[in-house]
Amino acid sequence: MAEMFVDLSTPGQLLERTARSYESLRLATGHGTTLPGHATRTLEMQATVFRDYYTTDASEPLFRGDNGALDIRTWNGVAWYRRSGRPSAAIPGTSNHGRGRTVDFQGLVGFDTPTYHAFALEAGKRGWSNAEGQRVGECWHWNHNPDMDTFEYEEDELMAAKDEIAAEVIKQLKGPAGKVKLTWATRRAIAAAQDKKVEDVADEMSLDDVLSYAARATFDNAALAVEVETLKAKLEKLAAGVKVDVSVDEAAIARKVVAALANRLTE
Ligand SMILES: [Zn+2]
Repeated sequence: MAEMFVDLSTPGQLLERTARSYESLRLATGHGTTLPGHATRTLEMQATVFRDYYTTDASEPLFRGDNGALDIRTWNGVAWYRRSGRPSAAIPGTSNHGRGRTVDFQGLVGFDTPTYHAFALEAGKRGWSNAEGQRVGECWHWNHNPDMDTFEYEEDELMAAKDEIAAEVIKQLKGPAGKVKLTWATRRAIAAAQDKKVEDVADEMSLDDVLSYAARATFDNAALAVEVETLKAKLEKLAAGVKVDVSVDEAAIARKVVAALANRLTE
């Protein structure tokens, strides 16, 4: 059966098996991508990137490689020159970013750094390769090959719980703010984290508590903390009876909040 593209917990989409591996790798290393187009790129997005990095005007300041050579690529029969100071980009229609198995990971610093090596270890276990990136000097460009991926992903109850809480949070965003009903799996996870019996964990939690769990898990992630604040502000408006539209972005924020909550619970 053909794999489907699925939404990531960060902006973007990947094919299912690669998406699952991406989420696992992101949780294990803290490296992912928050930039649109750094996972799967449509043909139009690739064309936009290409036009930004390359020009048909050879009189502009142009990139030169170590041997002084220009980087010239032919697109639709026209010669394009890489601009000075720009990374390389594939000719639109030929990029692996269109195939749903490629991600440009942020924060890897550079080849031969401790950060890169630590990431490469976890990525390698999960069938990711930087070989294509290495050929063009991009430490961030990684391809996932499911056939090389022998990692034992846990069909973790927390992941299932995460989806259920996400659904609840989104439902609450759409209706009056109130309590979130916790699943048995979530209560068990909380009980384990707090060294309690499952029976001693309430079966409901206020949204505030859900958010504060999430906020504590995100103290080192300023961008996510801002999003949590945005989400809280919206919930307060809903509680005060002010009509608020819920956007696709907010559904994504809710997913991130809940992912952070799941992280917190597994610490
Ligand atoms: Zn790339």
